[in-house]
Amino acid sequence: MYLKVLFKTQTTMKVKMILPALTEAESPFWRPIKYSLFPPLGLATLAAFLDPDDEIDLQDQHVEQLNLDDEPDLVLIQVYITNAFRAYKIADHYRAKGAYVLLGGLHVTSLPEEAAQHADTIFLGPAEESFPRFLADYRNKRPHKVYTSQVRTLHNLPPVRRDLIKRNRYLVPNSLIVTRGCPHHCDFCYKDAFFTGGKSFYTQLVDDALAEIERLPGKHLYFLDDHLLGNPKFASELFEGMKGMNRVFQGAATIDSILNGNLIEQAAEAGLRSVFVGFETFSPENLRQSNKNQNIARNYEEVVRRLHSLGIMINGSFVFGLDHDDKDVFRRTVDWGVENAITTATYHVLTPYPGTRLFQNMEAEGRILTRNWDLYDTRHVVYKTQGLTAEELEKGYNWAYKEFYSWSNIIEASFSHESAKHILKHLFYTGGWKKFEPLWNFIIKTGGLNNMLPLLESILSKVGNTKKEEKVFNKEETSTVLNDPAWKQ
Ligand code: SF4
Repeated sequence: MYLKVLFKTQTTMKVKMILPALTEAESPFWRPIKYSLFPPLGLATLAAFLDPDDEIDLQDQHVEQLNLDDEPDLVLIQVYITNAFRAYKIADHYRAKGAYVLLGGLHVTSLPEEAAQHADTIFLGPAEESFPRFLADYRNKRPHKVYTSQVRTLHNLPPVRRDLIKRNRYLVPNSLIVTRGCPHHCDFCYKDAFFTGGKSFYTQLVDDALAEIERLPGKHLYFLDDHLLGNPKFASELFEGMKGMNRVFQGAATIDSILNGNLIEQAAEAGLRSVFVGFETFSPENLRQSNKNQNIARNYEEVVRRLHSLGIMINGSFVFGLDHDDKDVFRRTVDWGVENAITTATYHVLTPYPGTRLFQNMEAEGRILTRNWDLYDTRHVVYKTQGLTAEELEKGYNWAYKEFYSWSNIIEASFSHESAKHILKHLFYTGGWKKFEPLWNFIIKTGGLNNMLPLLESILSKVGNTKKEEKVFNKEETSTVLNDPAWKQ
């Protein structure tokens, strides 16, 4: 290893940064559009710490063929659980060629001993502080085997190297993260494992976040933060600063943050048009068992009413397979989503990720069935279930997706909105997202994904005050459309 370092630090470096494709991205059910949404922001963030003269090649296997024939000095690979085996192969390949290989990310932090077998250096936890520390050691020819995140801050970071991102290959190139982590502690979430040993929720300076937004072209933004409203003071100041910037944006928030105070109104005024909400389960026992306290005794329908009254579309997240689920959970969950007119639903089979309390508990109870990480994709059952058989769970999960996204349910949910504009937005957004796969594939193949942004922006445009807008369809007209056999699957 010492020799590797000695020879490779004399001049500028050739640096390869790789996001290997998730295994599920190549399954027969692969929806290329789903994996062409966001660029690899984490790698572009770390690239900002490299020397401006270094030659950097950032590759994302979800949107391009990897070139593995090159001879980089330094290789940095981001590892998630379902790309882990692939990441290790790529790491071994480059180590055999004499490159110095770095691995980091959620899976590396959860299972450092496993990852270390394939790397010269591994990073545990967020790397904004440890990566520059490594670079200094590497240039001094004294890199360590393991770098653990020590200082947790987002203050005064260099601007993300967005010039390395191939913008036209992504539907949402303007994704950004202005916070790290989350103030909550759900047992099935990676969050606590990744941020072990330090702060697990912190924010950028508001001015830095606003400056980053200013630098992004166009109108649309997607905040990839786990919980954009997690720090009310920060969020309030951010939204205040965004007023008048003429942006439309999407992000994620928890149930309690939507119900408390008037933060969600401020967000809507700043341009929030759709939000990812972790409803997860309707069972209080499941919520308690998962330590998802922020959802307990909360009125989910009130969350929906509040968001819809502000013209904000909802992407609801739901987990199947918690210990108190029964065979009716799939039907109940789909019906609730349609009746409450949520725009899109993301369903998951419960997955005990290594490093989480859920995994530790299940392992202690002998319930973990496999360590084939490729199957930890939230579509397969990898643990001994209770209340449902594994077969019932996988079947129910697949049924829920099919049922929620049937045309009849999309139309029924769309027509529940008060205003014509909200009805059309719902129809276009959900139908466009789930029902036009060949068209998306064609657009991806012809390299025009980025050209779809204006369409997305217009779908996300503001819905007026619903009380003042005329309702264009009455109940009879709605039911005529719904009963048209053409809409039934
Ligand atoms: S609220 Fe979401 S991000 Fe936060 S700990 Fe729970 S699952 Fe994780």
